[in-house]
Amino acid sequence: MSEPQETCHVISHVHWDREWYRTFDGYRGRLVELVERVCGALDKGEYASFHLDGQTVILADVLEIRPDLEARLAAHISSGRLTVGPWHVLADNQLVSAENLVRNLLRARRWGTRMGRLSPVGYSPDAFGHPADLPRLLNGFGIDTALVWRGAPPEHARFRWISPDGSEVFTVNQGYHQTETLWDAGTSDTQLKQFVDTERNRMPEGPLLLLNGGDHLVPRPPADRQEAAAGAGVALVETTLEDFFAGARAAAIDLPEVSGELRTLGNRLTFLLPGTLSARTYVKLANHRVQTLLERFVEPQLARHRLAASLAVAGTPAAPDSHAELLDDAWDLVIKNAPHDSICGCSTDEVHRQTTVRAQRATDTADLLLRRLLLAEGVDTRQHGDPARESADVVVLSGHGTPVSGPATVELVTEAGRVVTGLRDAAGRSIPFEVSATRRGKVFEADLDLLPDSRDTDTHTLAFTAGNLPAFGWMTFTAELGEATAGPEVQKSRVVESGRFRLEVLDDASLRVQDTTTGVVHEGVGRLVSSGDRGDTYNFDPVPGDLPTLPRVVDVEVSRTELRTRLRINAVLTLPEAIGEDRDSRSASPIDSPLDVTVTHWADTDRLEWAITLDNRARDHRLRFETPVDADADVWTADQHWSTIDRPIGPELGPLPTEAALEAAHPVAPVTSWACVGRGPDAVALLTRGLPEVQAFRNGGSAVLAVTLLRAVGWLSRFDLRTRTTGAGPMLPVPEAQCLGPITVNVAVVLGKGVQPENPAFLAAAALHAAPLAAFALRPGVPAPSGRSAPRTAPEVTGALVSAWKPAEEAGGSVLRISNPSALPASATVAVPEGVTTVRQARIDETPVEDLPLGDQLHLELPPYGLVTLLLG
Ligand SMILES: [Zn+2]
Repeated sequence: MSEPQETCHVISHVHWDREWYRTFDGYRGRLVELVERVCGALDKGEYASFHLDGQTVILADVLEIRPDLEARLAAHISSGRLTVGPWHVLADNQLVSAENLVRNLLRARRWGTRMGRLSPVGYSPDAFGHPADLPRLLNGFGIDTALVWRGAPPEHARFRWISPDGSEVFTVNQGYHQTETLWDAGTSDTQLKQFVDTERNRMPEGPLLLLNGGDHLVPRPPADRQEAAAGAGVALVETTLEDFFAGARAAAIDLPEVSGELRTLGNRLTFLLPGTLSARTYVKLANHRVQTLLERFVEPQLARHRLAASLAVAGTPAAPDSHAELLDDAWDLVIKNAPHDSICGCSTDEVHRQTTVRAQRATDTADLLLRRLLLAEGVDTRQHGDPARESADVVVLSGHGTPVSGPATVELVTEAGRVVTGLRDAAGRSIPFEVSATRRGKVFEADLDLLPDSRDTDTHTLAFTAGNLPAFGWMTFTAELGEATAGPEVQKSRVVESGRFRLEVLDDASLRVQDTTTGVVHEGVGRLVSSGDRGDTYNFDPVPGDLPTLPRVVDVEVSRTELRTRLRINAVLTLPEAIGEDRDSRSASPIDSPLDVTVTHWADTDRLEWAITLDNRARDHRLRFETPVDADADVWTADQHWSTIDRPIGPELGPLPTEAALEAAHPVAPVTSWACVGRGPDAVALLTRGLPEVQAFRNGGSAVLAVTLLRAVGWLSRFDLRTRTTGAGPMLPVPEAQCLGPITVNVAVVLGKGVQPENPAFLAAAALHAAPLAAFALRPGVPAPSGRSAPRTAPEVTGALVSAWKPAEEAGGSVLRISNPSALPASATVAVPEGVTTVRQARIDETPVEDLPLGDQLHLELPPYGLVTLLLG
């Protein structure tokens, strides 16, 4: 009698990168073919079941071409044999916002309802690491499992993965691409044996799982490989992910705990690909802009509009509009840019031309929606009719759920030859302002009820501080116009005092900053450091013997007004124009890249703001913004999604691998909006805006905090890197990943006592830097009906951050999500807007959990890393 054989569970599946080394359309015809073949194989019983890669966008993409397949797909999905979801796309879940991930899961849920069923397993097999808050997010959708691979600790095949707030998922660490194990009867017997031996060794407690699939492949059905399996001592049993997880959880004993993000260096061929955090930063910046526009401005204004409409029209139906549908369309485009090969910048140039267009389309829709929502309140931002001559009104809009004061910059259009001579708030008080540029041109406007109109005008870049803006509300300001005014006095100087700072521009365009209240001097703040990069879109790879290059100052201008102090630094970055043909040295011929750095200190603020424009003309290098930090510090702290994360300060780069198919540790990390080192007078924080790659590292006797501005590389993937000793994708040239041409980025620095990451005021300042106030010129002769948005038309939150205020998924009402990202508990107060008649606490997926007592004010005690989702009805 033969020995009873161990079960090896098999899940046949495909991993479908929607776009990567081909464009979306270059893949889609194949996807339609694949889905039809899978349906046929399910009909014939060749597969017991099939996993359609955890992303419902596949259904959307196929049904656009073949709507006739819907009933057939729905039948297989409803029966549980074809499994889809729980995601709409397999995002790089570190590079998009928490709310982007929520919208992704909500969208998949709609597809689950439409097609009959959604997989309940948190499947994310290929993402290049995972954020600390993923277990919390999955729990918020009723999911308590995860399947991950890259970034998971290789020593743990199964573990309890725990978010900072204590949310937890039962996690399986499993590579997803074992197609070859069952592929060819002639060659794969030994592969199957090897696979079984390796897996038994990795998890002696079992059960074994073989993910029979790969990238863009139709896997061979497992049935005809039973004989080979018997030779390897196992019986192949087809199962679904859901059933496998139930069995694996039941079999698990003494599971290890893994807390926080998954960014551990992997074993052979399990690459983390950390260079994708900075490949094509223009892709990340475009995503940040549109995500911010949707989350901070469009969704809150739509929620406010709905609430106001429900009060105003009591008894009569609201005027029909397409706002929700337009919002949904914009999110659809943004989410289609979130897959790991899209947002990571590691696809072909053709693909990224398309991601750029998608981001632009979403931005245009969002911009139109925002202006339409303001127009519904009588705030008309269309520049039509006789241009302003005596005065011009502007509106400033907040994207924050707490009252804020902050810098506002608006493009103000006037009759040609007119200048701004004064600025008043709605109460008539004169407030400081600056016009930093004026340009002559024509303004054009047309709309459904406005004839096309083109006028000669001047456009002035007007800056001022908008004080005490209501939560998610707006205020108007009036610019007085005249014929002559004096601009800010500009001096050629490298030194200026501003507030508590003494600022001096050094030869390399960085700053020596002295805090005059403490005497502490920070030397080399905002140093722009270029290093040679012989890598690819996946990994930074330093050029041997290369020394970092710094810019040199050409000219500095200083201006100082009641409003702000500005240093305008004109500099040049001279770099080797590329790496050499041997790819082992940098070319001798130098090339100059012009660099324009403006450092602004707004009166009464704690931060110095950098706006940096580089016209990049050099290939094969990485440019970072660096600031020295306390050399004895061990830890740096940053936000990601809804939590504050601590990470160790170590070497910039780990040891280079000496064997094939391995990767060097490169401890860069994804950051949402701020990072800091230390507390007290020596502390330093960087506030970022759409630049996710940050690192704090030790360099000899010093330490620096660095954010990557761009990484210029010419290859999708290479096989000859030192930091990753084989390819990570096809070896294709991607000249546009060299990021040649102008790029503008914004970074702010907070020094000394202002660095308090547990303090809601610090967190609010970082949020405001990441999502600045929006400002629009109003239509000439059409002032807003009042000086500010109506009171109590939006929730106002103090003591915590607002992650979202959006229309609810189900008809009526809105969703308010607030977070306490810090390690300390927080007391939050929510002023409930007028017209809200019920408040319910809900899961992240908007499923109600419990009714809360209704009052004008709601007090919430948030635990460390707490997150609360409220349904306002
Ligand atoms: Zn992939």
